[in-house]
This record gives sequence, C-alpha cells and structure tokens, in this order.
Amino acid sequence: MAVQRTFSIIKPDATARNITGKINAMIEDAGLRIIAQKRIRMSREQAEGFYAVHKERPFFKDLVSFMISGPVVVQVLEGENAIAKYREVMGATNPEQAAEGTIRARFAESIEANSVHGSDAPETAAQEIPFFFKEEEIVG
Ligand code: UDP
Repeated sequence: MAVQRTFSIIKPDATARNITGKINAMIEDAGLRIIAQKRIRMSREQAEGFYAVHKERPFFKDLVSFMISGPVVVQVLEGENAIAKYREVMGATNPEQAAEGTIRARFAESIEANSVHGSDAPETAAQEIPFFFKEEEIVG
C-alpha cells in the first residue's frame, strides 16, 4: 500500500473543548504524521465552497453555520493508506454508530458536531488539501 496524504479538520466543537491535542495524539498513535497544520477561522464562503457537494442536503445551512462558529484546525496527514486509515480512526459520521475507540465515539457531540473531518477518497483529498494549503506549507 502506497504512502498517501489526506486532509483533516478538527471542527469547532473540538477546539471549543480544548481537545485538539487529544485528537492529534490519536492521529499519531495510528501511525499518521501531521505534515501541515494551522488554526483558522473559516469564512462563510470557504465553508460553503468546501461543502459544496452537500449544498442540496437539508443539513447544509446548519453545517456551514457550525463550521464558522469557532476556530478549526486544518491539517494534512501522511502515511501508509492514510485516507482509509484516518476514516477508520475517525469512526462513523453519526457518533451513535461510531466504533469504540474512534475519535467520534470518544468525542463527537452529535451527527453534526462530530469533531473531525477526513477526506473520503484520493480524488477528494487531492481537491481538499490545496483548498487550504499551499505546497510550501506542507512539510513531509
Ligand atoms: N452532517 C450533518 N447531518 C447529517 C449528515 C452529515 O450535520 O445528517 C454533517 C457532519 O458534520 C458531517 C458532514 O456533514 O461530518 C459531512 O457529511 P458526510 O456525509 O460527508 O460525513 P463524513 O464524511 O464527515 O463522515
């Protein structure tokens, strides 16, 4: 399996509870390297653009409001099979369905405020990483 890069967001519910370090520890314990990271406040335009694929979904408006409600930490993670591995570490979207020991099982507050985002496929990662990072900000 090849070394991959994936895009991650630690969402506002997690920054509000000051648990970014705990989440980073789970990422690193899974063998993923954090090769870029910055704490930002997303603009409404950024959040709408980032989640454009969901714009017809009933939860879109609330999701955008949630994502701009506080700081987020955007990250690039690198490792063997990083995309699928991080999805495993995150757990299911709905924390009630998230496997024990996953980030969302441990920390998510609801299906919306579920603490983390991770790219779901190589094509998504390839779009999401440059949405927030210049190549020179990524140090592998
Ligand atoms: N979401 C929501 N309500 C839903 C489904 C999703 O608020 O019924 C939010 C949630 O924050 C989720 C994000 O929209 O993480 C993107 O949804 P997706 O289905 O892509 O889930 P993910 O890939 O994040 O697990």
